[in-house]
Amino acid sequence: MENIDWSNLGFGYMKADYNIRCKFSNGAWGELEVHDNEYLSMHISATALHYGQESFEGLKAFRGKDGKIRIFRMKDNALRMQDSSVGTLMAKVPVEMFEEAVLKAVKLNEHYVPPYESGASLYIRPVLFGSGPQIGVRPATEYMFIVFVLPVGPYFKGGFQTTPFVIMREYDRSAPLGMGKYKVGGNYAASLVAGQRSHELGYSNIFYLDAREKKYIDECGAANFFGIKSNTYVTPKSSSILPSITNKSLMVLAEEMGLTVERRDVPVEELSTFDEAGACGTAAVISPIERIDDYDKNISYIFSKDGKPGPICEKLYHKLQAIQYGNEPDTHGWVTIVE
Ligand SMILES: *Cc1c(COP(=O)(O)O)cnc(C)c1O
Repeated sequence: MENIDWSNLGFGYMKADYNIRCKFSNGAWGELEVHDNEYLSMHISATALHYGQESFEGLKAFRGKDGKIRIFRMKDNALRMQDSSVGTLMAKVPVEMFEEAVLKAVKLNEHYVPPYESGASLYIRPVLFGSGPQIGVRPATEYMFIVFVLPVGPYFKGGFQTTPFVIMREYDRSAPLGMGKYKVGGNYAASLVAGQRSHELGYSNIFYLDAREKKYIDECGAANFFGIKSNTYVTPKSSSILPSITNKSLMVLAEEMGLTVERRDVPVEELSTFDEAGACGTAAVISPIERIDDYDKNISYIFSKDGKPGPICEKLYHKLQAIQYGNEPDTHGWVTIVE
């Protein structure tokens, strides 16, 4: 392993020493295998390549001040991946196997877990896909589960910053009774054009409304939305939103801070009533929103005038990070310490 410049890490692929793999065939999972090769050989007719039979997860490990490595809410990611298997008819990865593979990947690549002071972390990417050949549209009979890791820099290089989003009704990310609630690659393929368009216009991403009526808030890019007003944390409830583990955690912390948490339909006009707004997910924890421009209606909803996040976003962000790095006690059993 070469010397890594921890302070200049971004969010990009970097080879670690090992990845963990497991194959499902003849109706059963095999043994976990350790590989040092980044490539895999697969059938040209694998269902993942043709019919998008694939799901993935994203979680992180953090090195604390005490030198210990903590993995955040690993079991929740295992359960969510099982849910994705329900949505794509893939073999389910057993929770214990998922956890064993993640722990193994972290331990074997321990040197890639950034030091506490860097503010960086180890991103863990489990991926599951149909590897068996099929040319008719049917689920595969063989699956591959892989866990690999990479060190990633702190999301906010110049400190906790706000970014703008844009509402454009010509794009949908997912349909009300579709795949939006599953963490599958196809949802990302479906969002690339809209994402690129938003970047060209200077936005961080598209702010999606519900596909059926374009009345309610869905997601901000590939992150969940929450708004804060008069001591209330409001987040949309919708069948096309991916259940973010970060959002789930923030709702618990918000309640503990004395906020009321509301998970319900959020009409787009309600944006004008929020004092603060944020996008949340594993990558950034919270990405506070500066403003949301409604491109079609020429309206701007502004949450920050000086580029600074609001006080509740700030507080929630620091609280969650403190638990992840072990600076505050883990009273919810969210953290697995790597022994
Ligand atoms: C992964 C993901 C999120 C964030 O989920 P976390 O578990 O908080 O990382 C939000 N929306 C979409 C569409 C996602 O794929």
